[in-house]
Amino acid sequence: QQRLKSLGKQGIFKPQRVHVIGAGTMGGDIAAWCALKNLHVSLQDQSPDRIAPAIKRAHGLFKKRLKSQRPIQAAMDRLMPDPRGEGLAKADVLIEAIFENIEAKQSLFQAIEPRLKAGALLATNTSSIPLETLAESLSQSERLVGLHFFNPVAKMQLVEIVKGEATKAEEMARAAAFTRQIGRLPLPVKSLPGFLVNRVLTPYLLEATRLLSEGVPGPVIDQAAIDFGMPMGPIELADTVGLDICLSVAERLTPPEQIPEELKIKIQQGQLGKKSGSGFYRYQ
Ligand code: NAD
Repeated sequence: QQRLKSLGKQGIFKPQRVHVIGAGTMGGDIAAWCALKNLHVSLQDQSPDRIAPAIKRAHGLFKKRLKSQRPIQAAMDRLMPDPRGEGLAKADVLIEAIFENIEAKQSLFQAIEPRLKAGALLATNTSSIPLETLAESLSQSERLVGLHFFNPVAKMQLVEIVKGEATKAEEMARAAAFTRQIGRLPLPVKSLPGFLVNRVLTPYLLEATRLLSEGVPGPVIDQAAIDFGMPMGPIELADTVGLDICLSVAERLTPPEQIPEELKIKIQQGQLGKKSGSGFYRYQ
């Protein structure tokens, strides 16, 4: 770990172009953050209509952080909507942030691997799928590394750098260097369920959901957590993360019978949290 930290600091890897696949909650905000940090970014999604809202959110971030028109415009120019994925072959870093689904991710990796530039960093933002499972679809499985950003990307300092069984130490070091380049703190972790942060966080979110089902109102639970010193209450945090993402992480960490029904029901109803307009709370 010490070696990894120092390698990350030496700037052995200084990418200029990033390609992000998946323009949802995470991919859109990761792309925006990288453009803010002076990288050229192309943003791809299988549903091209997901790209425009992500670019709009990015504009909001640039306005807030950069204040004056010229740097804001320069950052906008660095962030390219790329519905056909033309930026992939030129990218120094590829970040996959599509649905949390094994088959979808594996077939994406299979399709893109031959098009990647030699030496490009190949990263996934998966929260819960073992790197080893995703790497099965690659001919160079040693290349895949996890870059696990947290939501909201612009606020959360930490990025877990996930090592799969086959991941080369060099790729871990390059991922750490990239993470530092974009002003974030790399935390190396092994590809075990929940990595580190979600292993701690998920039981907390599930327990808060259980309290809801026992009849304690969400705002009461959230206010108690805020009074305790948390920046956001657990019910709102679950909505922010996305209830589908919470469930997929919980399923890796918790026996099925211990996962609160409330969570499953919300998802069945299409209420996924802030991204769908409602979850445990309403956002419209
Ligand atoms: P999301 O549902 O908001 O966005 C996923 C996007 O991927 C959608 O816009 C979808 O159209 C697109 N997509 C799906 N399949 C695609 C394909 N084959 N090619 C191109 N685009 C495709 O999901 P999200 O919350 O942004 O999560 C994305 C990833 O990030 C997941 O792996 C998730 O586990 C991980 N993650 C999520 C959070 C969180 O708080 N939401 C935090 C850390 C990591």
